[in-house]
Amino acid sequence: MSDAADDAQDFETNRRAAALADAAVSEPGPGPIFIDGVAHCAECEAVIPEARLKALPGVGLCVACAEERESER
Ligand SMILES: [Zn+2]
Repeated sequence: MSDAADDAQDFETNRRAAALADAAVSEPGPGPIFIDGVAHCAECEAVIPEARLKALPGVGLCVACAEERESER
């Protein structure tokens, strides 16, 4: 019985990893720079607020740089 549970867990883990890999491909761009476990903007190295990281997991830019990039389009 525990084997079946382990298999299910492996399946779930693999599927999640695949989904994350897909997400990484569909949304290219640099992630944040981590300094002492704190995420910093990949452009200006400002600290990215935790609220922003929670709202946009994996975001690599601070608000100012993201807005600048948006306005360039
Ligand atoms: Zn920045």
